[in-house]
Amino acid sequence: MSEAFRCGRRGPWAANSPFKYDQVEKGDHYRDGGTCSYCGSVSQEAFLAFIEAGGEVGPTDKSYKAYLHGTDTAQAPGIKFYFQHLDEAGMRKFIELVNAKRMRIGYPGHFYVRPYFCVPVKADAA
Ligand SMILES: [Zn+2]
Repeated sequence: MSEAFRCGRRGPWAANSPFKYDQVEKGDHYRDGGTCSYCGSVSQEAFLAFIEAGGEVGPTDKSYKAYLHGTDTAQAPGIKFYFQHLDEAGMRKFIELVNAKRMRIGYPGHFYVRPYFCVPVKADAA
């Protein structure tokens, strides 16, 4: 069993969120298959390695969730990733990969619902 951590999907959430704040502070772990014992997400490390190996990230209508689609070059480490599993550095890396177009994004080819930690910026007028 991996080292215990706190799954980010336990909250806290915004006041109008449908999710319940679960204040358990620790005790989650990555199961043998590499998925979070609380939410079933793969780890940040597995998610980012999958993207860099050419795996396809499938957008969803949720700002906190993506599906993982295996490709010729990358076997999916699990079926889904919850963005709450990204730490600050992971979010930066994710944004960097999107901006550099180094992420294969599944249909329709972009995140039609933006990941909650991403904001659009206007390209510099040149
Ligand atoms: Zn989790």
